[in-house]
Amino acid sequence: MDPNNSKILPRENTPPPPYAESPGIFPATLLYTNDHTTQQQHFIPASIIIRPILGPNPVHMFCPTCRNYIITEIDESPTNEAYLCCMLMFIVGCIICSCLPFFMKSCQKVDHRCPQCASYLGTHKP
Ligand SMILES: [Zn+2]
Repeated sequence: MDPNNSKILPRENTPPPPYAESPGIFPATLLYTNDHTTQQQHFIPASIIIRPILGPNPVHMFCPTCRNYIITEIDESPTNEAYLCCMLMFIVGCIICSCLPFFMKSCQKVDHRCPQCASYLGTHKP
């Protein structure tokens, strides 16, 4: 790069906007505006894969392992809190109700997997 070709852009001759009348308090635009960053261009590499938030239902996403566009396979299983709640209800004497946490949707964790390469993608916990 030739140093003679790099020109320093002349600053605008317009005066900066006046500050607020109360000393020490400035508008947020004055504090966070930087003239040097406005002319930079940001390039995002094509290899970045943004993962969606995994919820209780199957999710459309790109698999980070096989890089295919997939709908995740889900596998529900009871959380540790469901087992604990079941044991507590059984000890208290509510034997019939002790199996309820295993059927409640809010006591199930959901594992997401890729249907094509079977790689683990994440777990949703309620
Ligand atoms: Zn995959």
